Amino acid sequence: MSAGFRRAKIVSTIGPASWDPNVLHDLIEVGTDAVRINFTHTPTDRAAGLVRRISDMARDVGRPVAIIGDLGGPKIRVGDLPGDQLEIEPEGTYWFFPEGDDAPAGSSPHRQIPTTYPELAEEVAPGNRILLDDGHFEFAVREVSDDPPWVSAVAFSAGVLKSQKGINLPGVRVGAPALTEKDIADIEFSVEQVIDYLALSFVRQPSDLETTRQKMDRGCLLIAKIEKSQALENLAEILPLSDAVMVARGDLGVELPYEEVPMIQKRIIRLAQERARPVITATQMLESMIESPQPTRAEVSDVANALLDGTDAVMLSAETAAGGYPVQAVLTMDRIIRRIEHERLGRTGRAGKQVEGFSKIQQTTSGAIAASSLIAVERVGAPFIVTFTQSGYTARIVSAQRPSVPILAITDQWRTYNQLALVWGVQPILFHGGISYSSMLDKARDVALELGMGEAGQRFVVTAGVPFHVPGTTNMMRVEEL
Ligand code: PGA
Ligand code: MN
Repeated sequence: MSAGFRRAKIVSTIGPASWDPNVLHDLIEVGTDAVRINFTHTPTDRAAGLVRRISDMARDVGRPVAIIGDLGGPKIRVGDLPGDQLEIEPEGTYWFFPEGDDAPAGSSPHRQIPTTYPELAEEVAPGNRILLDDGHFEFAVREVSDDPPWVSAVAFSAGVLKSQKGINLPGVRVGAPALTEKDIADIEFSVEQVIDYLALSFVRQPSDLETTRQKMDRGCLLIAKIEKSQALENLAEILPLSDAVMVARGDLGVELPYEEVPMIQKRIIRLAQERARPVITATQMLESMIESPQPTRAEVSDVANALLDGTDAVMLSAETAAGGYPVQAVLTMDRIIRRIEHERLGRTGRAGKQVEGFSKIQQTTSGAIAASSLIAVERVGAPFIVTFTQSGYTARIVSAQRPSVPILAITDQWRTYNQLALVWGVQPILFHGGISYSSMLDKARDVALELGMGEAGQRFVVTAGVPFHVPGTTNMMRVEEL
Protein backbone atom coordinates (compact mmCIF):
# COMPACT_ATOMS: atom_id res chain seq x y z
CA MET A 1 0.00 0.00 0.00
CA SER A 2 2.66 2.50 1.01
CA ALA A 3 4.32 2.32 -2.38
CA GLY A 4 1.02 2.75 -4.22
CA PHE A 5 -0.09 5.59 -2.03
CA ARG A 6 0.69 9.07 -3.31
CA ARG A 7 1.40 11.55 -0.49
CA ALA A 8 1.69 14.90 -2.24
CA LYS A 9 -1.52 16.27 -3.68
CA ILE A 10 -2.51 17.71 -7.06
CA VAL A 11 -4.55 20.89 -7.49
CA SER A 12 -6.18 21.46 -10.91
CA THR A 13 -7.49 24.86 -11.92
CA ILE A 14 -10.75 24.61 -13.83
CA GLY A 15 -11.42 26.71 -16.92
CA PRO A 16 -12.73 26.44 -20.47
CA ALA A 17 -10.50 23.43 -21.16
CA SER A 18 -12.06 21.49 -18.27
CA TRP A 19 -15.64 22.73 -18.07
CA ASP A 20 -16.72 19.79 -20.19
CA PRO A 21 -18.12 17.18 -17.75
CA ASN A 22 -16.15 14.38 -19.36
CA VAL A 23 -12.86 16.22 -19.03
CA LEU A 24 -13.69 17.24 -15.46
CA HIS A 25 -14.54 13.68 -14.59
CA ASP A 26 -11.27 12.45 -16.07
CA LEU A 27 -9.27 15.08 -14.20
CA ILE A 28 -10.74 13.82 -10.94
CA GLU A 29 -10.49 10.18 -11.83
CA VAL A 30 -6.79 10.31 -12.74
CA GLY A 31 -5.77 12.03 -9.54
CA THR A 32 -6.92 15.61 -8.96
CA ASP A 33 -7.22 16.07 -5.20
CA ALA A 34 -8.35 19.68 -5.19
CA VAL A 35 -10.02 21.81 -7.80
CA ARG A 36 -9.42 25.55 -8.00
CA ILE A 37 -12.20 27.75 -9.31
CA ASN A 38 -10.75 31.11 -10.24
CA PHE A 39 -13.50 33.64 -9.53
CA THR A 40 -11.79 36.24 -11.71
CA HIS A 41 -12.45 34.17 -14.80
CA THR A 42 -15.53 32.14 -13.79
CA PRO A 43 -19.03 33.60 -13.95
CA THR A 44 -21.06 32.84 -10.80
CA ASP A 45 -23.67 30.63 -12.47
CA ARG A 46 -20.89 28.59 -14.04
CA ALA A 47 -19.16 28.29 -10.66
CA ALA A 48 -22.36 27.09 -8.98
CA GLY A 49 -22.77 24.36 -11.59
CA LEU A 50 -19.14 23.33 -11.16
CA VAL A 51 -19.39 23.02 -7.39
CA ARG A 52 -22.38 20.69 -7.71
CA ARG A 53 -20.79 18.67 -10.46
CA ILE A 54 -17.43 18.27 -8.73
CA SER A 55 -19.12 17.03 -5.54
CA ASP A 56 -21.18 14.54 -7.54
CA MET A 57 -18.16 13.30 -9.45
CA ALA A 58 -16.08 12.96 -6.30
CA ARG A 59 -18.81 10.84 -4.71
CA ASP A 60 -18.97 8.82 -7.88
CA VAL A 61 -15.21 8.23 -7.96
CA GLY A 62 -15.27 7.50 -4.21
CA ARG A 63 -12.56 9.97 -3.28
CA PRO A 64 -12.73 13.37 -1.60
CA VAL A 65 -11.99 16.43 -3.72
CA ALA A 66 -11.41 19.79 -2.08
CA ILE A 67 -12.94 22.82 -3.78
CA ILE A 68 -10.90 26.01 -3.62
CA GLY A 69 -12.47 29.34 -4.55
CA ASP A 70 -9.80 31.81 -5.61
CA LEU A 71 -10.58 35.47 -4.81
CA GLY A 72 -9.01 38.01 -7.14
CA GLY A 73 -8.20 40.42 -4.30
CA PRO A 74 -6.75 43.85 -5.00
CA LYS A 75 -5.33 43.02 -8.42
CA ILE A 76 -4.99 46.17 -10.48
CA ARG A 77 -5.76 45.83 -14.16
CA VAL A 78 -5.59 47.60 -17.46
CA GLY A 79 -9.10 48.76 -18.38
CA ASP A 80 -10.85 48.23 -21.68
CA LEU A 81 -8.69 49.42 -24.57
CA PRO A 82 -10.27 50.71 -27.78
CA GLY A 83 -10.37 47.69 -30.09
CA ASP A 84 -9.19 45.66 -27.08
CA GLN A 85 -5.54 46.27 -27.81
CA LEU A 86 -2.80 48.83 -27.93
CA GLU A 87 0.58 48.77 -29.64
CA ILE A 88 3.36 49.50 -27.15
CA GLU A 89 6.46 51.09 -28.64
CA PRO A 90 9.76 51.19 -26.81
CA GLU A 91 10.76 54.61 -25.52
CA GLY A 92 7.22 55.87 -26.12
CA THR A 93 5.62 57.89 -23.35
CA TYR A 94 2.25 56.53 -22.20
CA TRP A 95 -0.47 57.99 -20.00
CA PHE A 96 -2.15 55.90 -17.30
CA PHE A 97 -5.45 57.27 -16.01
CA PRO A 98 -8.58 55.97 -14.23
CA GLU A 99 -10.95 54.10 -16.52
CA GLY A 100 -14.08 56.20 -17.07
CA ASP A 101 -12.23 59.52 -16.61
CA ASP A 102 -11.38 61.80 -19.51
CA ALA A 103 -7.98 60.95 -20.99
CA PRO A 104 -5.21 63.36 -19.92
CA ALA A 105 -5.27 66.57 -21.98
CA GLY A 106 -2.74 66.58 -24.79
CA SER A 107 -2.10 62.82 -24.74
CA SER A 108 -2.38 60.95 -28.01
CA PRO A 109 -5.09 58.24 -28.24
CA HIS A 110 -2.32 55.78 -29.17
CA ARG A 111 -0.64 56.44 -25.86
CA GLN A 112 -3.53 56.13 -23.39
CA ILE A 113 -3.82 53.27 -20.93
CA PRO A 114 -6.93 53.28 -18.73
CA THR A 115 -6.61 51.38 -15.42
CA THR A 116 -9.06 49.97 -12.88
CA TYR A 117 -7.23 51.72 -10.04
CA PRO A 118 -8.10 55.42 -9.50
CA GLU A 119 -5.47 55.77 -6.73
CA LEU A 120 -2.55 54.90 -9.02
CA ALA A 121 -1.38 58.53 -9.27
CA GLU A 122 -1.42 58.89 -5.47
CA GLU A 123 0.76 55.87 -4.89
CA VAL A 124 3.49 55.86 -7.49
CA ALA A 125 6.36 58.30 -7.79
CA PRO A 126 8.76 59.16 -10.61
CA GLY A 127 11.24 56.31 -11.00
CA ASN A 128 8.80 53.55 -9.93
CA ARG A 129 8.24 50.71 -12.34
CA ILE A 130 4.86 49.73 -13.75
CA LEU A 131 4.65 46.19 -15.10
CA LEU A 132 1.82 44.97 -17.29
CA ASP A 133 0.74 41.48 -18.33
CA ASP A 134 2.95 39.44 -15.98
CA GLY A 135 5.90 41.72 -16.61
CA HIS A 136 5.80 41.46 -20.39
CA PHE A 137 5.65 45.23 -20.55
CA GLU A 138 7.79 47.44 -18.39
CA PHE A 139 7.41 51.19 -17.88
CA ALA A 140 9.24 53.73 -15.75
CA VAL A 141 7.13 56.48 -14.18
CA ARG A 142 8.13 59.95 -15.36
CA GLU A 143 5.52 62.37 -14.16
CA VAL A 144 2.58 62.19 -11.80
CA SER A 145 -0.42 64.51 -11.74
CA ASP A 146 -2.84 64.53 -8.79
CA ASP A 147 -5.69 66.50 -10.31
CA PRO A 148 -6.77 65.24 -12.71
CA PRO A 149 -5.06 61.99 -11.73
CA TRP A 150 -2.72 60.55 -14.32
CA VAL A 151 0.74 59.05 -14.53
CA SER A 152 3.05 59.33 -17.51
CA ALA A 153 5.60 56.60 -18.02
CA VAL A 154 8.17 55.54 -20.59
CA ALA A 155 7.92 52.07 -22.12
CA PHE A 156 10.90 49.74 -22.24
CA SER A 157 9.17 46.94 -24.11
CA ALA A 158 7.45 46.41 -27.41
CA GLY A 159 4.36 44.43 -28.31
CA VAL A 160 0.60 44.42 -28.35
CA LEU A 161 -1.07 45.02 -24.99
CA LYS A 162 -4.56 43.58 -24.51
CA SER A 163 -7.43 44.83 -22.34
CA GLN A 164 -7.77 43.63 -18.73
CA LYS A 165 -4.16 42.54 -18.30
CA GLY A 166 -2.79 42.68 -14.76
CA ILE A 167 -0.69 45.56 -13.46
CA ASN A 168 2.09 45.00 -10.94
CA LEU A 169 3.79 47.83 -9.07
CA PRO A 170 6.93 46.26 -7.57
CA GLY A 171 7.91 47.79 -4.27
CA VAL A 172 4.93 50.15 -4.16
CA ARG A 173 2.78 49.83 -1.04
CA VAL A 174 -0.61 49.57 -2.72
CA GLY A 175 -3.34 50.98 -0.50
CA ALA A 176 -6.30 49.22 -2.16
CA PRO A 177 -8.59 47.38 0.28
CA ALA A 178 -7.95 43.63 0.63
CA LEU A 179 -11.34 42.77 -0.83
CA THR A 180 -13.11 44.29 -3.81
CA GLU A 181 -16.92 44.42 -4.13
CA LYS A 182 -16.62 41.38 -6.37
CA ASP A 183 -14.57 39.50 -3.77
CA ILE A 184 -17.24 40.18 -1.16
CA ALA A 185 -19.92 38.83 -3.50
CA ASP A 186 -17.69 35.81 -4.24
CA ILE A 187 -17.29 35.12 -0.53
CA GLU A 188 -21.07 35.24 -0.06
CA PHE A 189 -21.41 32.83 -2.94
CA SER A 190 -18.84 30.52 -1.35
CA VAL A 191 -20.73 30.56 1.95
CA GLU A 192 -23.95 29.57 0.15
CA GLN A 193 -22.18 26.85 -1.79
CA VAL A 194 -20.25 25.54 1.24
CA ILE A 195 -16.91 25.78 -0.54
CA ASP A 196 -14.02 24.05 1.28
CA TYR A 197 -11.26 26.67 0.92
CA LEU A 198 -11.05 30.32 -0.07
CA ALA A 199 -7.73 31.58 -1.40
CA LEU A 200 -7.00 35.29 -1.06
CA SER A 201 -4.79 36.86 -3.72
CA PHE A 202 -2.27 39.62 -3.03
CA VAL A 203 -2.25 39.26 0.75
CA ARG A 204 -0.09 42.08 2.11
CA GLN A 205 -0.65 42.13 5.87
CA PRO A 206 -2.34 40.13 8.62
CA SER A 207 -5.41 42.41 8.61
CA ASP A 208 -6.18 41.34 5.01
CA LEU A 209 -6.78 37.84 6.35
CA GLU A 210 -8.77 39.03 9.34
CA THR A 211 -11.06 41.08 7.10
CA THR A 212 -11.64 38.08 4.87
CA ARG A 213 -12.17 35.66 7.74
CA GLN A 214 -14.92 37.85 9.19
CA LYS A 215 -16.96 37.37 6.05
CA MET A 216 -16.36 33.62 5.70
CA ASP A 217 -18.33 30.87 7.40
CA ARG A 218 -16.56 29.07 10.19
CA GLY A 219 -15.90 25.75 8.54
CA CYS A 220 -14.26 27.25 5.46
CA LEU A 221 -10.46 27.33 5.44
CA LEU A 222 -8.44 30.32 4.27
CA ILE A 223 -5.42 30.07 1.97
CA ALA A 224 -3.05 33.04 1.92
CA LYS A 225 -1.55 33.47 -1.55
CA ILE A 226 1.97 34.74 -1.06
CA GLU A 227 2.73 36.87 -4.11
CA LYS A 228 3.92 40.24 -2.82
CA SER A 229 7.14 41.28 -1.14
CA GLN A 230 5.07 42.84 1.64
CA ALA A 231 3.57 39.41 2.38
CA LEU A 232 7.07 37.97 2.65
CA GLU A 233 8.04 40.67 5.13
CA ASN A 234 4.94 39.78 7.18
CA LEU A 235 5.08 36.03 6.70
CA ALA A 236 5.55 35.19 10.39
CA GLU A 237 2.32 37.02 11.23
CA ILE A 238 0.43 35.88 8.14
CA LEU A 239 1.02 32.15 8.64
CA PRO A 240 -0.76 31.80 12.00
CA LEU A 241 -3.80 33.65 10.61
CA SER A 242 -4.09 31.41 7.57
CA ASP A 243 -5.07 27.75 7.36
CA ALA A 244 -2.88 27.06 4.34
CA VAL A 245 -0.61 29.03 2.00
CA MET A 246 0.20 29.17 -1.68
CA VAL A 247 3.58 29.96 -3.18
CA ALA A 248 2.05 32.03 -6.00
CA ARG A 249 5.11 32.12 -8.20
CA GLY A 250 3.44 33.86 -11.13
CA ASP A 251 2.92 37.21 -9.48
CA LEU A 252 5.77 36.68 -7.04
CA GLY A 253 8.21 36.60 -9.97
CA VAL A 254 6.85 39.91 -11.24
CA GLU A 255 6.62 41.70 -7.89
CA LEU A 256 10.17 40.54 -7.13
CA PRO A 257 13.04 39.67 -9.47
CA TYR A 258 12.30 36.14 -10.68
CA GLU A 259 15.65 34.84 -9.56
CA GLU A 260 14.47 35.40 -5.97
CA VAL A 261 11.59 32.94 -6.34
CA PRO A 262 13.38 29.58 -5.88
CA MET A 263 14.80 30.46 -2.46
CA ILE A 264 11.55 32.16 -1.42
CA GLN A 265 9.71 28.98 -2.32
CA LYS A 266 11.96 26.96 -0.03
CA ARG A 267 11.51 29.45 2.79
CA ILE A 268 7.71 29.60 2.56
CA ILE A 269 7.44 25.82 2.43
CA ARG A 270 9.71 25.37 5.45
CA LEU A 271 7.93 27.97 7.57
CA ALA A 272 4.49 26.67 6.59
CA GLN A 273 5.42 23.12 7.49
CA GLU A 274 6.90 24.23 10.83
CA ARG A 275 3.51 25.71 11.63
CA ALA A 276 1.54 22.77 10.22
CA ARG A 277 0.02 24.85 7.44
CA PRO A 278 -0.43 22.91 4.19
CA VAL A 279 1.39 24.60 1.33
CA ILE A 280 0.62 24.61 -2.40
CA THR A 281 3.36 25.38 -4.91
CA ALA A 282 1.79 27.05 -7.93
CA THR A 283 2.18 28.37 -11.44
CA GLN A 284 3.93 27.34 -14.62
CA MET A 285 4.78 23.94 -13.17
CA LEU A 286 4.04 22.19 -16.47
CA GLU A 287 3.49 25.31 -18.56
CA SER A 288 4.60 23.78 -21.86
CA MET A 289 1.82 21.19 -21.51
CA ILE A 290 -0.64 23.92 -22.42
CA GLU A 291 0.47 23.14 -25.96
CA SER A 292 2.26 19.83 -25.77
CA PRO A 293 1.39 16.37 -24.43
CA GLN A 294 4.93 16.17 -23.01
CA PRO A 295 6.46 18.30 -20.26
CA THR A 296 9.91 19.79 -20.67
CA ARG A 297 12.63 18.15 -18.61
CA ALA A 298 13.10 21.43 -16.79
CA GLU A 299 9.44 21.37 -15.72
CA VAL A 300 9.74 17.82 -14.47
CA SER A 301 12.72 18.92 -12.39
CA ASP A 302 10.80 21.92 -11.09
CA VAL A 303 7.93 19.73 -9.85
CA ALA A 304 10.40 17.28 -8.33
CA ASN A 305 12.25 20.07 -6.56
CA ALA A 306 9.05 21.52 -5.09
CA LEU A 307 8.37 18.06 -3.66
CA LEU A 308 11.91 17.82 -2.32
CA ASP A 309 11.40 21.25 -0.73
CA GLY A 310 8.49 19.65 1.14
CA THR A 311 5.39 21.06 -0.55
CA ASP A 312 2.04 19.47 0.33
CA ALA A 313 0.56 20.05 -3.10
CA VAL A 314 1.52 21.08 -6.61
CA MET A 315 -0.85 23.14 -8.72
CA LEU A 316 -1.80 23.24 -12.38
CA SER A 317 -3.12 26.55 -13.70
CA ALA A 318 -3.57 27.16 -17.42
CA GLU A 319 -2.41 23.57 -18.03
CA THR A 320 -5.81 22.30 -16.88
CA ALA A 321 -7.85 25.51 -17.27
CA ALA A 322 -7.00 26.48 -20.82
CA GLY A 323 -4.53 23.96 -22.22
CA GLY A 324 -4.84 21.27 -24.84
CA TYR A 325 -3.76 18.41 -22.57
CA PRO A 326 -5.40 18.84 -19.16
CA VAL A 327 -5.70 15.15 -18.29
CA GLN A 328 -2.14 14.39 -19.41
CA ALA A 329 -0.94 17.23 -17.16
CA VAL A 330 -2.51 15.59 -14.09
CA LEU A 331 -1.11 12.20 -15.10
CA THR A 332 2.33 13.79 -15.49
CA MET A 333 2.15 15.28 -11.99
CA ASP A 334 1.09 11.92 -10.62
CA ARG A 335 4.04 10.15 -12.26
CA ILE A 336 6.60 12.65 -11.00
CA ILE A 337 5.25 12.63 -7.46
CA ARG A 338 5.21 8.83 -7.23
CA ARG A 339 8.74 8.58 -8.56
CA ILE A 340 10.14 11.10 -6.11
CA GLU A 341 8.31 9.61 -3.13
CA HIS A 342 9.43 6.12 -4.08
CA GLU A 343 13.03 7.31 -4.28
CA ARG A 344 12.82 8.98 -0.91
CA LEU A 345 11.18 6.03 0.79
CA GLY A 346 13.83 3.73 -0.61
CA ARG A 347 16.74 5.89 0.45
CA THR A 348 15.62 7.33 3.74
CA GLY A 349 12.49 5.46 4.78
CA ARG A 350 10.74 8.83 4.57
CA ALA A 351 8.41 9.89 1.81
CA GLY A 352 8.57 13.55 2.77
CA LYS A 353 10.88 16.19 4.13
CA GLN A 354 11.09 16.36 7.90
CA VAL A 355 11.14 19.70 9.68
CA GLU A 356 14.19 20.35 11.80
CA GLY A 357 14.13 21.81 15.28
CA PHE A 358 11.05 22.53 17.33
CA SER A 359 8.71 25.27 16.30
CA LYS A 360 6.09 26.57 18.71
CA ILE A 361 3.39 24.36 17.31
CA GLN A 362 5.57 21.30 17.73
CA GLN A 363 5.90 22.11 21.42
CA THR A 364 2.14 22.09 21.94
CA THR A 365 0.45 18.97 23.31
CA SER A 366 -0.77 18.22 19.80
CA GLY A 367 2.70 18.62 18.35
CA ALA A 368 4.19 16.34 20.99
CA ILE A 369 1.54 13.66 20.36
CA ALA A 370 2.07 13.91 16.61
CA ALA A 371 5.83 13.51 17.02
CA SER A 372 5.41 10.56 19.38
CA SER A 373 3.11 8.85 16.91
CA LEU A 374 6.02 8.79 14.46
CA ILE A 375 8.29 7.18 17.01
CA ALA A 376 5.59 4.63 17.79
CA VAL A 377 5.19 3.84 14.10
CA GLU A 378 8.86 3.03 13.84
CA ARG A 379 9.04 0.97 17.01
CA VAL A 380 6.07 -1.26 16.27
CA GLY A 381 6.50 -1.26 12.48
CA ALA A 382 3.03 0.19 11.96
CA PRO A 383 1.92 0.27 8.31
CA PHE A 384 -0.27 3.35 8.87
CA ILE A 385 -1.42 5.96 11.37
CA VAL A 386 -5.07 6.55 12.15
CA THR A 387 -6.35 9.96 13.23
CA PHE A 388 -9.86 10.66 14.45
CA THR A 389 -10.58 14.21 13.51
CA GLN A 390 -13.54 16.56 13.29
CA SER A 391 -11.91 19.81 12.24
CA GLY A 392 -8.99 18.14 10.47
CA TYR A 393 -6.51 19.64 12.91
CA THR A 394 -5.21 16.34 14.23
CA ALA A 395 -4.58 15.05 10.72
CA ARG A 396 -2.81 18.26 9.67
CA ILE A 397 -0.46 18.27 12.61
CA VAL A 398 0.44 14.62 12.11
CA SER A 399 0.93 15.30 8.39
CA ALA A 400 3.31 18.17 9.13
CA GLN A 401 5.63 15.62 10.77
CA ARG A 402 5.79 13.81 7.40
CA PRO A 403 5.41 10.26 8.68
CA SER A 404 6.74 7.43 6.53
CA VAL A 405 3.33 5.72 6.49
CA PRO A 406 -0.09 6.90 5.24
CA ILE A 407 -2.40 8.78 7.60
CA LEU A 408 -5.96 7.45 7.62
CA ALA A 409 -8.07 10.39 8.76
CA ILE A 410 -11.47 9.29 9.96
CA THR A 411 -14.04 12.06 10.21
CA ASP A 412 -17.80 12.40 10.39
CA GLN A 413 -17.66 15.85 8.74
CA TRP A 414 -18.22 16.01 4.98
CA ARG A 415 -16.31 19.25 4.67
CA THR A 416 -13.32 18.06 6.70
CA TYR A 417 -13.25 14.93 4.56
CA ASN A 418 -12.91 17.10 1.45
CA GLN A 419 -10.54 19.64 2.98
CA LEU A 420 -8.11 16.93 4.01
CA ALA A 421 -7.77 15.86 0.37
CA LEU A 422 -5.29 18.74 0.02
CA VAL A 423 -3.10 17.66 2.93
CA TRP A 424 0.11 15.72 2.39
CA GLY A 425 -0.02 12.01 3.21
CA VAL A 426 -3.63 12.01 4.34
CA GLN A 427 -6.23 9.55 3.12
CA PRO A 428 -9.55 10.98 4.36
CA ILE A 429 -12.32 8.56 5.30
CA LEU A 430 -15.90 9.62 5.89
CA PHE A 431 -17.65 7.73 8.67
CA HIS A 432 -21.10 8.33 10.05
CA GLY A 433 -21.32 5.36 12.39
CA GLY A 434 -21.08 7.35 15.61
CA ILE A 435 -18.22 9.16 17.26
CA SER A 436 -17.07 6.73 19.88
CA TYR A 437 -13.51 5.44 20.07
CA SER A 438 -14.54 1.85 19.51
CA SER A 439 -16.80 2.50 16.52
CA MET A 440 -14.12 4.61 14.81
CA LEU A 441 -11.47 2.04 15.59
CA ASP A 442 -13.61 -0.67 14.00
CA LYS A 443 -14.01 1.52 10.94
CA ALA A 444 -10.26 2.10 10.75
CA ARG A 445 -9.63 -1.67 10.86
CA ASP A 446 -12.22 -2.32 8.15
CA VAL A 447 -10.84 0.33 5.83
CA ALA A 448 -7.22 -0.68 6.36
CA LEU A 449 -7.96 -4.32 5.57
CA GLU A 450 -10.14 -3.39 2.62
CA LEU A 451 -7.40 -1.17 1.18
CA GLY A 452 -4.80 -3.83 1.85
CA MET A 453 -2.82 -1.51 4.08
CA GLY A 454 -1.87 -4.15 6.59
CA GLU A 455 -2.44 -7.70 7.78
CA ALA A 456 -4.30 -9.04 10.80
CA GLY A 457 -2.04 -9.03 13.83
CA GLN A 458 -0.02 -5.99 12.74
CA ARG A 459 -0.01 -3.04 15.09
CA PHE A 460 -0.90 0.50 14.12
CA VAL A 461 -0.94 3.89 15.82
CA VAL A 462 -4.01 5.97 16.64
CA THR A 463 -4.02 9.66 17.53
CA ALA A 464 -7.05 11.71 18.48
CA GLY A 465 -8.29 14.59 20.51
CA VAL A 466 -10.54 13.49 23.37
CA PRO A 467 -13.31 14.51 23.89
CA PHE A 468 -13.99 14.29 20.16
CA HIS A 469 -16.20 17.32 19.75
CA VAL A 470 -13.61 19.82 21.04
CA PRO A 471 -11.53 20.84 18.00
CA GLY A 472 -7.90 21.85 18.04
CA THR A 473 -6.39 19.48 20.58
CA THR A 474 -4.70 16.23 19.87
CA ASN A 475 -4.02 14.71 23.25
CA MET A 476 -4.11 10.96 22.87
CA MET A 477 -2.06 8.26 21.20
CA ARG A 478 -2.62 4.53 21.35
CA VAL A 479 -1.16 1.47 19.71
CA GLU A 480 -3.80 -0.94 18.44
CA GLU A 481 -3.79 -4.24 16.64
CA LEU A 482 -5.27 -4.98 13.27
P1 PGA B 1 -3.05 33.45 -9.97
O1 PGA B 1 -2.19 33.12 -8.70
O2 PGA B 1 -2.96 32.30 -10.90
O3 PGA B 1 -4.43 33.65 -9.42
O4 PGA B 1 -2.43 34.73 -10.47
C1 PGA B 1 -1.05 32.33 -8.74
C2 PGA B 1 0.21 33.09 -9.05
O5 PGA B 1 0.23 34.33 -9.10
O6 PGA B 1 1.22 32.41 -9.20
MN1 MN C 1 -1.42 35.62 -8.72
